[in-house]
Parts: sequence; structure tokens; C-alpha cells
Amino acid sequence: MKVLVPVKRVVDYNVKVRVKSDQTGVDIANVKMSMNPFDEIAVEEATRLKEKGVVTEVVAVSCGTAQCQETLRTAMAIGADRAVLLQTDVELQPLAVAKLLKALVDKEQPQLVVLGKQAIDDDANQTGQMLAALLDWPQATFASKVEVSGDSVTVTREVDGGLETLSLKLPAVITTDLRLNEPRYVTLPNIMKAKKKTLDTLTPEELGVDVTPRLKTLKVTEPPARSAGIMVPDVATLVDKLKNEAKVV
Ligand code: AMP
Repeated sequence: MKVLVPVKRVVDYNVKVRVKSDQTGVDIANVKMSMNPFDEIAVEEATRLKEKGVVTEVVAVSCGTAQCQETLRTAMAIGADRAVLLQTDVELQPLAVAKLLKALVDKEQPQLVVLGKQAIDDDANQTGQMLAALLDWPQATFASKVEVSGDSVTVTREVDGGLETLSLKLPAVITTDLRLNEPRYVTLPNIMKAKKKTLDTLTPEELGVDVTPRLKTLKVTEPPARSAGIMVPDVATLVDKLKNEAKVV
């Protein structure tokens, strides 16, 4: 069984991003970039399924600029067997990514696609759902447990107020939530081994996919600055302030 794992190169989660002065977007020049954390969880899960003998091949894929090769090498250091870069300099929106992934699924014929539930840069939370719709495959989003048996997969999902368990027939699309697993530490020997693994490059044109953006960003602004907190001497003052200043009780 082959698993495809899409991984996105995003601004590292530790970086405090700044809005560009012309408000056209976020400044990512000279900023540390990393694999989207939910995608690391997806690569880890696919790797664990391979280690259990359920999966025979894990293929990582990234859509974007040539720098995404770095992200793919990290995926292979975690455990992916090989990688595919769908290379373009066009700014990719979720629908374009979903179409690119659909084209690669048609070519690679995996039985499972495991994506992150969302990319922490745009917080879109759309690509997995769009991919499942384009493929007409069952989907289970926000997975906190995945068990494959035979031609079906049982997925526990985190929903408001509890857990939901779904059984899907393969092939299927799964998106990962934070508690699915804790990705392993990438060791130096595995980074070295990953350099020797195969990384193929394809373009949207070669896959016959139009990636032209459909949405236009009008303006990006910083959130309003928060004013400093104050210490109150006692509960009575706190209640008074909440009632008469903040007017929240
Ligand atoms: P989003 O819908 O943008 O929040 O992204 C959800 C998931 O789709 C991510 O966690 C990735 O697994 C996948 N994804 C989104 N954009 C890309 C990309 N450019 N390349 C590879 N995978 C992506």
C-alpha cells in the first residue's frame, strides 16, 4: 500500500511574523522556514504505518518553489521513501494545490493521502477536503488515531465536545490533528541518508493543471496592539472594574 503525504513549506512556528509596510502580505524575506507542523505529524504517521508493515511506500510531495526541496528532504529524513516537487513560482491557493495533488494521485495511485489539517501560514483548512471532493474519495479530517485493516481505515476524530470514530473504505483522504502522534527527532544519519533518496520534479504544465490564483488579497494588517494589564488590590475592585470599566459583567 502506497501513502502520499503532502508537506508545505511555511514560516517556522516560532517566528513572529511582521506585515509588510505596503500591507500586501507578510514579510518572509530572511525568515526561518520549516515544514508545516501538522504535515510533520502526517509524515510521522505514514512512517509508523510503514514500520508496522501496513504500508510499503511513503511518498512526500510539496507544491511551490525550488526551496521546497529542503522540506522534502526533511520528510525523507523522518521516513518518507522518496519525494516529488511540483514546482512553480506562482502563489498557490488551496484549490490549486488540491488540483495538483489530484493530478499526482492519478499518476501515483496511492491508497491513502495523509495531509495536515491546516497550514499554519494561511490557516485555510481547505486542501484535504477539496482533494477528497476532486477525487470523490471518503475523507476523515482532524484525525487523532488511525488504524488500517484490510481495505478500510478506522479514524478517530476530534470534534467539539468529544471524539467521533469513522470507518472509511480505501482509497481515502485523512487530515491530521495535533494529538495523532509526536513526530520523532530527525537524526543526523537520517538527514545524510535522505540526501541520497529520489526527489523528482514536475511542473503544473506537465500535469496539465492551471494554478492561476482565484482569490486576491486586498489588505493584510497587524492585529490591534493589546494594552498592558493592571493589578487590582482585591476582588471587590476587580468586580467593580469588570462592571463599570470593561462592562463585561
Ligand atoms: P491548508 O488547506 O492550506 O490549510 O493546508 C492543509 C494541508 O494541505 C497542509 O497541512 C498540507 O498537508 C497540504 N498543503 C497545503 N498547501 C500545500 C503545498 N503548497 N504543498 C504541499 N502540501 C500542501
